[in-house]
Amino acid sequence: MSNYEGQCGCGNIEYCFEGEPINTAFCYCDECQKYTGSDKWFGIWVGAEQFKFTKGEVATFTRKGDSGQDMHHKFCSDCGTTLAIDVCVGNFYSVAASTLLTCDFSPNMAIYTASAPHWAVFPEGVPKFDTLPTEMGG
Ligand SMILES: [Zn+2]
Ligand SMILES: [Zn+2]
Repeated sequence: MSNYEGQCGCGNIEYCFEGEPINTAFCYCDECQKYTGSDKWFGIWVGAEQFKFTKGEVATFTRKGDSGQDMHHKFCSDCGTTLAIDVCVGNFYSVAASTLLTCDFSPNMAIYTASAPHWAVFPEGVPKFDTLPTEMGG
């Protein structure tokens, strides 16, 4: 089984997950733009049971998602890197691809593209959704 590892910018927080992701998505929502400082978050979605923090004391910021349920942002209180978001409604973590030590993943879909800034860059040949695909509650 594959094992993936990642860490924050300063290295105080580390995590790993086992097995293959359930989805890989570029998210262009307003919140993702703010905490990445870019047009999108590249989320590697892994089941909650696949994922764990292995080093350091990770900090949590909680907000309500579109579903009305909690989204727990897991970040390093030293360097500010957001490593993953615990998406309660789907029982999965959206792991920041940028924090993986090695990342061969490509996005399967682009979501919340209706919120994207005019300067956003979209991947070629990847389905775009204004919010979420209907089967995911959009
Ligand atoms: Zn850090
Ligand atoms: Zn988002």
